[in-house]
Amino acid sequence: MGQIDTVLAGGTVVTADGTYDAAVGIDDGTIVGVGSEAALPDADERVDADGNLVLPGVVDPHTHLYGYNSVDSYETGTAAAAAGGVTTLLTFAWQRWDDGEWGAEGTLAEAVERHETGTEPLIDCGVHPVITEESEAVLDELAALVDDGVTSFKMFTTDDIRLSNGFIGEVFRELADLGAVGMVHTEDYSVCEHRGEAVRAEPDGDAPAAYPRSRPDYAEAMAAGSVARLAVAADAKYYAVHTTSEAAADALAAVQTDGANVRAETCTHYTVLDESTYERLGNRSIMAPPLRTPADSDALFDSLRDGALSVVSTDHVPLPLDRKEGGPWWDSAFGINSLQTSLPVFHDEAVNRRGFSYPDLVRFACRNPADTFGLPRKGRIEPGADADLVVFDPEETYTITAEDNLSNADYSVYEGREVTGRVERTFVRGELVADDGEIVADPGHGRFLDRDVPDWG
Ligand SMILES: [Zn+2]
Repeated sequence: MGQIDTVLAGGTVVTADGTYDAAVGIDDGTIVGVGSEAALPDADERVDADGNLVLPGVVDPHTHLYGYNSVDSYETGTAAAAAGGVTTLLTFAWQRWDDGEWGAEGTLAEAVERHETGTEPLIDCGVHPVITEESEAVLDELAALVDDGVTSFKMFTTDDIRLSNGFIGEVFRELADLGAVGMVHTEDYSVCEHRGEAVRAEPDGDAPAAYPRSRPDYAEAMAAGSVARLAVAADAKYYAVHTTSEAAADALAAVQTDGANVRAETCTHYTVLDESTYERLGNRSIMAPPLRTPADSDALFDSLRDGALSVVSTDHVPLPLDRKEGGPWWDSAFGINSLQTSLPVFHDEAVNRRGFSYPDLVRFACRNPADTFGLPRKGRIEPGADADLVVFDPEETYTITAEDNLSNADYSVYEGREVTGRVERTFVRGELVADDGEIVADPGHGRFLDRDVPDWG
């Protein structure tokens, strides 16, 4: 090989398999070598990692940009992501959601088109279409989308956009034929409706602290178990989103027997915050499912350790405070923003406080989501992979504040939290996009990715 573009040297490379003092050779946006600097080809530019860690960029498979319940455009959301060490994200394209309104009808293909047209992401992106309507037509659409590199689909068992278990099962059958992934938000609708009504009627039932009891862990576990069984029966690949509780993790583990294609994530906030947060932060911490008990957070880490959970995502839902606060909890828009803060917060908790290794961190945040969603060039530092890299200082301590938000969301549930470990620089396909919290590349550097049908072998 002749001269290459860049060598990133002087750091400790972390992969899902280990940590190495090594340099990374980059040419034309692709990693072309990992090893001693002397053994790599000469480069036009030498970038010094200054003794820091070099991680693969985070692959966040659960974010909400541009559309329902999101005030982030691709430009602002991916800027927050880049500053937070995220180099690939997957977001949701809602069937029937068009330009601020729920339409009467709409196809999944139109929803995908709206995301990919006229938007200028800074990092690489993909979309999961969200099926909100039970129809033959939607089943008929799936094959063409999978052919076009859209290889995962989201559904809900609750709220206004819920689908029946019967229809979810039919979608799984279709996805099984195509090799694509089904994702479901699982809470039992009728239990949440009845409990919600009962909790609202209680004295102090309008206080944010009452909110978790309106969507109890057993309602999550019931739906988690039912939907996973539907997926197993159809022999479909199933990815359970935002697992919050020991009960739900156990329900998933019960069906994760040999040959079952059932994978699951939790989100950073469920691992580091508990239900006492509602007293402290009120409506700004309202999301669904709710935060649970400290014992649940411990159990989520146990499940990450034993593999029942394999991914940590953000469920980034960027909202302004004026849509969160000022009324009872049920008037709050649901969701929290965290793309910019999730890696440092989760790193601090998992690695600094709970003894997880750096390769564990890379598995949960980078390689597992990449492999789960058909992105073989992402989440790894090896020849042939995209040069999506994060220079991370594991020793710098700083205090999180929403003043630094690049997201349009104007608060952070992590406001005032001191964390050790900071994203210094973020590269997407070899280009420096964020440097010490500042964006240094132009929007539009990111691409919409054609994803493979994943091999979950
Ligand atoms: Zn979500």
